[in-house]
Amino acid sequence: MPTVSTQPQNPAMAEALEWWRELFDKAGVYQTKVLKAGDAYPGILAMTKPDKKKKTLLVYGHLDVQPPGDSAEWSSDPYKLALRGGYLFGRGIADNKGQHLAVILAMLDLVEQGKPLNYNVKILLEANEETGSLGLDWMLKKYARQLEADFYVGIDGSMIAKDQPTIYQGCKGINYYRLTVRGSKRELHSGYYGMLVYNPAIQLAKFLGGLTDQDGLIAVPGVRVVADGGFERREVEVREMFGPEDEPRIRKEDLGKLISTQERESTLDVHSLRSGGEPDQVKTAIPTQAVASFSIRTAPGSEAKRVDEAIQQHAWRFFAKTSLEYELELVIAADPGMAGGESLMVEKIANSLRVVSGVEPVITNLSATLPVFSQVAKVYHQPFVLVGFAAPDSNQHAVDEKLPVENFLLAQRFVTRLLTQG
Ligand SMILES: [Zn+2]
Repeated sequence: MPTVSTQPQNPAMAEALEWWRELFDKAGVYQTKVLKAGDAYPGILAMTKPDKKKKTLLVYGHLDVQPPGDSAEWSSDPYKLALRGGYLFGRGIADNKGQHLAVILAMLDLVEQGKPLNYNVKILLEANEETGSLGLDWMLKKYARQLEADFYVGIDGSMIAKDQPTIYQGCKGINYYRLTVRGSKRELHSGYYGMLVYNPAIQLAKFLGGLTDQDGLIAVPGVRVVADGGFERREVEVREMFGPEDEPRIRKEDLGKLISTQERESTLDVHSLRSGGEPDQVKTAIPTQAVASFSIRTAPGSEAKRVDEAIQQHAWRFFAKTSLEYELELVIAADPGMAGGESLMVEKIANSLRVVSGVEPVITNLSATLPVFSQVAKVYHQPFVLVGFAAPDSNQHAVDEKLPVENFLLAQRFVTRLLTQG
């Protein structure tokens, strides 16, 4: 089903809710409810019959997908499930509905075999994850009673390496900035005025250059946070993260170690720069302004507000030494996910994964931002734990999205084990 949430008024969204509702009914679910998400697409919640003696486990996922891109580039129809060479192909098979199909199939089997579940299970599928979980905080607040649980577990995303079960106990937040530096009102001749006035392009470049040190680490006091976790990988595995067309300019340090730093620490990147005229024209003027955008992927333990205070203060100190005006605008702010730490659920998940896969799971932080992490922490004051069954070569968001059949089966075995013995 083409449940593309970036497309407005997509009729497939309502059809999908019906489809999931029917499937939930078959899986012995006691109650299914469509949950509104403010002005965004509604999601669906399924609950097993509540038993006061049992703890409640909420399983989170999303039923929306990214657009398939050019369907002609796919080796088969993106909206028809296909099996080839040990992989299931289709848009959403890895990110994320395919993973939840495995959850439901596991529950269906348990119901058929008459095996009782260890938990009251709630399954929440939202429909706006691909547009930044619009309306999710609205939903969490509005349906706080229905969504109440002892444990919040997400099943989404990928293993960090092939056949390496992975648990994410936290995720990065993001502070995204636009910085405008204003110089003289008119462009000035660099021969007559150079040296006499501040050049906004030079000062912006200096400012940006000072945000990180030679090793790429954030150099602004109070911004760099180092969380627990972070898993060193083999250099060759990290290289597999790049596509052949990327021609990446890889850092000179040990890549296996760098990826652990990336998962653990806040990182900073500059995204765009603009000043003066066109570089391919010869023009010797001092530009009137310079603009850049940059962002910080904030590690668990950071707070968007604190990070902003530190960055603002740093900018104020820097530009106060000049006579330039500047504006530093915080465009997007999302807190990182609270680290689950030694949470009981992390332990239970690790046990179940170990048993069903025979491999010791890795516990780390997601180096991207998944809004549900911080929103569950903020609204319910509860940790959120994520397990991903997609593979590094699953082509999420790209052409020929695929999921290894063995990963699908592993997800199913994991859910069975967690719900009956975890
Ligand atoms: Zn996605």
